[in-house]
Amino acid sequence: MTKPIIAILGAGLGGALAAFEIKEAVGSMAEVTVVSQGDAFQFVPSNPWVAVHWRAREAVEVNLPPVMAKKGIGFTGAGARRVHPSENRIELNDGGSVSYDYLVIATGPELAFDEIEGLGPNGGYTQSICHVDHAEQTAIAFDAFVQNPGPIIVGAVQGASCFGPAYEFAMILDTELRRRKIRDRVPMTFVTAEPYIGHLGLDGVGDTKGLLESEMRNRHIKWITNAKVVKAGPGMLDVDEIAEDGSVKAHHELPFALSMMLPAFRGVEAVRGIEGLTNPRGFILADKHQRNPTFPNVFSLGVCVAIPPMGKTPVPVGVPKTGFMIESMVTAIARNLRDLLDGKDPIHEGAWNAICLADFGDGGVAFIAQPQIPPRNVSWSAEGRWVHLAKVGFEKYFIGKIKRGESAPFYEKMALDLIGAKKLKV
Ligand code: FAD
Repeated sequence: MTKPIIAILGAGLGGALAAFEIKEAVGSMAEVTVVSQGDAFQFVPSNPWVAVHWRAREAVEVNLPPVMAKKGIGFTGAGARRVHPSENRIELNDGGSVSYDYLVIATGPELAFDEIEGLGPNGGYTQSICHVDHAEQTAIAFDAFVQNPGPIIVGAVQGASCFGPAYEFAMILDTELRRRKIRDRVPMTFVTAEPYIGHLGLDGVGDTKGLLESEMRNRHIKWITNAKVVKAGPGMLDVDEIAEDGSVKAHHELPFALSMMLPAFRGVEAVRGIEGLTNPRGFILADKHQRNPTFPNVFSLGVCVAIPPMGKTPVPVGVPKTGFMIESMVTAIARNLRDLLDGKDPIHEGAWNAICLADFGDGGVAFIAQPQIPPRNVSWSAEGRWVHLAKVGFEKYFIGKIKRGESAPFYEKMALDLIGAKKLKV
């Protein structure tokens, strides 16, 4: 008898974990196969470090084919050209096809640089750390910058949903420039669509507003909030500062010698515009069991999932999808697939919590939001050098886990440890 096939599309932070956990959950009841773009797993949270040479690319990548083979999971790095959910089929870039009984979409974001003139590293004037290729390009731009320092602008544009890495990168640059003793030659400005510093797309967590404002003041980083980037040009960022009523409160022409601006995200081309599968920005529609309402054999997890914004802000900001939430989506899907194979209805739900370690190179800010959207049961933030050390530990642990093909969830434990640590006044 042929076994049902579970295909996982995308092998980033969410997809790779999903492959291991689903295989563990379904055992020999189904074939599990992964369709990835290339053979390498990339640990995206390390990209800010790659961009200042604190990490080499090789240190944050894992070659997936041998790991998947060891776990009995099928693998192709050909990438998907198009998903055909009405045919239960993925069309591959190499002309091949993968048929499935169940599909788990974990394709992460497409980076919407093209929505703002001059934005982004490919043909634009600003750098990015969203992909390791971009982080490497930023490292080259940084090398040129230190030879001839000038103003730096870091931030996140209108419609962005991922703000933590922008704060991280601003502070990491500050740390690195101080180490090189050239910080005194570098005016720094943080430009963000958030209504206030530390909003993070989550209306703040604990005192992230106070902690991050204080950190920026201590480091002499100025900021502009409610910022809408009009365009980027050679060495110049044009920004409108938007008032509560939506009018332009001020216009800023900000010169820069180096700029890294996080873009808005949208769904990837292989799924965008499929009626019933995606929303207008190409994010996958999912119910509370991570299941698509139109194609119930399709599940989704991670950044590619459609989540409504928190509420109205003068400049649009999205809700971040971070590791804790992604891991809980993975677990819910693995259990739901097992239930379906057992002939039961899927009942498991992801816990929509956020936990983040924002590293500043010489310290950092950690926060836990349970649930992610306020009002919350846990809304906790703290700072200190221990956050930098914890992030290094997190990186080592996570990359090791991918190398070993381990499925055990990790974030829940980290959240409990951190809350425990708070009681101990770390
Ligand atoms: P990704 O990790 O981006 O994986 C998507 C995968 O799908 C990729 O491998 C991609 O190649 C593949 N793919 C795309 N299209 C196709 C296709 N057509 N065919 C086949 N494969 C395809 N969160 C935290 O919790 N902690 C952090 O410290 C943290 N730091 C971050 C730092 C940065 C710079 C960024 C951008 C995000 C960070 N996040 C962090 C947020 C989030 O955890 C990460 O973005 C995470 O990588 C998202 O996981 P994902 O699986 O949804 O997407």
